[in-house]
Amino acid sequence: MVRGRAAWPRRWQRSREGFDVQLHERHPEVRAAENILNLWPPPQKVLKLIGVDTDDLGAPCHVTFRNAQGKRRVDVCLTPEVEREYGGGFIGLLRWSPYERMLAALRPGVMRLDHDLIGLEDRDDDVLLRFDGREPIVADAVVGADGINSTVRRIFRRRP
Ligand SMILES: Cc1cc2nc3c(=O)[nH]c(=O)nc-3n(C[C@H](O)[C@H](O)[C@H](O)COP(=O)(O)OP(=O)(O)OC[C@H]3O[C@@H](n4cnc5c(N)ncnc54)[C@H](O)[C@@H]3O)c2cc1C
Repeated sequence: MVRGRAAWPRRWQRSREGFDVQLHERHPEVRAAENILNLWPPPQKVLKLIGVDTDDLGAPCHVTFRNAQGKRRVDVCLTPEVEREYGGGFIGLLRWSPYERMLAALRPGVMRLDHDLIGLEDRDDDVLLRFDGREPIVADAVVGADGINSTVRRIFRRRP
């Protein structure tokens, strides 16, 4: 499987249910841009459900959107239950913190770095994955979670 941060939860959950799940990432290391990340309650909830430590993950705040003159355009009002459960709802944090916690929740051997997917062949009973400079891998199923310029999508679009 090709890794994508938004798809980590699905694959994580499966790996916890006894499937032999592998995440293939083209980069040789997991790195995070040193900028801020904002998370609403849905991703916070998913992280918690898949076993990621979400205690004190970020600084909760109430969110409003304003125009350049400071006039309030939107006031995001979450329910009192959500605000209670998520300490205000919306949190801000630096990116490396959740990455570190997500990596800690992964079983050893699941993440395979430096695997750049270049080919994919649906052989009915299984799928053959080709990686740049590496041995091919056979999988029962592939989840293409490889971002906005998805290689998986490009390969399948080329099919007759
Ligand atoms: C500047 C910026 C700020 C953002 N801020 C926020 C925010 O604060 N909060 C928020 O919720 N969202 C934010 N987003 C959106 C969020 O980052 C994306 O919605 C999310 O990362 C998409 O996840 P994804 O798994 O689809 O793709 P990606 O996160 O792009 O993951 C795709 C992965 O697949 C790998 N890959 C690609 N091709 C191959 C290949 N051929 N072989 C192997 N691996 C491959 C890539 O290296 C990458 O690691 C932001 C986005 C940007 C650009």
